[in-house]
Amino acid sequence: MKFRITRNWSEIETALSARVTKDRAGRWFVSFTRPASKLERSATDKAVGLDMGVTHTAAMSDGQFLDMPELLSKGERQRKRRLQRKLARQTKGSKRRNQTKLAIAKISTREKDRRKDWIEKATTKLVRNYDLIAIEDLKIKNMTRSAKGTVERPGKNVAQKSGLNRVILSQGWGLFRKRLTDKANGATTPVEIVFVNPAYTSMRCSECGHAEQENRKSQAVFACTNCGHTDNADLNAAKNILAAGHAVSGRGGTSHAKPDRVKHSDPTKRQPARAA
Ligand SMILES: [Zn+2]
Repeated sequence: MKFRITRNWSEIETALSARVTKDRAGRWFVSFTRPASKLERSATDKAVGLDMGVTHTAAMSDGQFLDMPELLSKGERQRKRRLQRKLARQTKGSKRRNQTKLAIAKISTREKDRRKDWIEKATTKLVRNYDLIAIEDLKIKNMTRSAKGTVERPGKNVAQKSGLNRVILSQGWGLFRKRLTDKANGATTPVEIVFVNPAYTSMRCSECGHAEQENRKSQAVFACTNCGHTDNADLNAAKNILAAGHAVSGRGGTSHAKPDRVKHSDPTKRQPARAA
C-alpha cells in the first residue's frame, strides 16, 4: 500500500512499532509508536484551578478563560444538517443512504480532529505555565450539573458555544485529562495534576467560604450573601478548585479560600477534596 509521510522521516526511523487503522470517514492511517519526547519547561511557581463550564470551556482561577473556537464553519454546519435530514428520509441499507452516512462521517471526523488539535494546544500551554493544576473530577460534576439543570436558556450564539462546551464536558474531557496528565508526567520539570471533588465549588464563596445556593445569582454572577463578595461565577468556582487542589497537594499556596477560614455548618459544610 502506498502512503504519504506527514512527519519527519527521522522521527519514523526511531519507531518501535506501526499500526494501520481506518476511521469512520474511510481514511487510512499508519501510525508509528516511539518513545514520547519530553515537554520542555522550567518551574514557574504558579498554580491554577480550572472550572470546566458551558459558557467558557474552562475558567482559570487567575482570571483567564480557555475557549474552544467553533469547530465547523457555518457552511460545514449547514451541510451537516442538510445531510442529516436527507439521511432520515433515505431507505435503510440503501446505497445512497450509505453515501450520505459517509459524507456525514467526513464532516464529523473533521470536527473531531479540530477538537483534538485544540486540546493538544490548550494542555501544552497549561503544562508549560503551571507547576500545579487542579481540575475537577467530572464524573461527579456531570451528575450534579444535569440534576440541577444549571444551563439556563442561552441566546442563539451562546447556545452554539455551550453546545461545544457540553461536548468537551462529556466526550472531550477524557482526552483533555489524559493529555494533561501525560504531558505533566513527561515534562522536564514536574507538574502536579490534582483531581478535586467538585461538590459545592459553584456555590461556595472563594473569599469567606460561605456556601449556599442563594450565592449563585445566575449562570454568570456569584454574589455572597454572607460577606458581599461578587465575582464571575465560573472564576469563583475555579478559585475554590485551586484551594481544594492546594489542600490535597499539601503545598499551601496563595489562594483566597484558605481551608481554615471555611465555616463548617450543615448543609453548607465544606466537602473534603478528594483525589481521583
Ligand atoms: Zn463570602
